[in-house]
Amino acid sequence: MECIFCKIIKKEIPSNIVYEDDNIIAFKDINPQAPVHLLVVPKKHIPNLLEIEEKDSFLILEITRVIKELAKTYNIDDRGFRVVINTGDEGGQTVHHLHFHLLGGRFMTWPPG
Ligand code: 5GP
Ligand code: ZN
Repeated sequence: MECIFCKIIKKEIPSNIVYEDDNIIAFKDINPQAPVHLLVVPKKHIPNLLEIEEKDSFLILEITRVIKELAKTYNIDDRGFRVVINTGDEGGQTVHHLHFHLLGGRFMTWPPG
């Protein structure tokens, strides 16, 4: 069975897409934890951060470029924002397709819960 983000990428299930190119997609989180809560996702199904291979390392640079663009678009670049990659059970990962949470629009607390 295919993962939910692969289905979003194939447009088999709807999502609020805010950025898309050949390699990367970004869409609004269905359960936002901040005024801005976007998920920036490589289209390639990579299960988590530990599974990133060297040949895919360009994707990480691309994702940082997209994050920068979106932070500007959503006016959180100057205010500040948080990028989170939950990994594994104790890291709080629930969808096993690599994704970067981009959170902003409010003060973040530290340490995270
Ligand atoms: P994780 O817990 O794996 O770090 O993050 C998964 C995120 O995906 C959660 O914040 C959750 O709200 C979001 N999510 C899960 N299913 C869907 C969906 O079908 N559509 C969208 N837009 N977000 C989803
Ligand atoms: Zn997937």
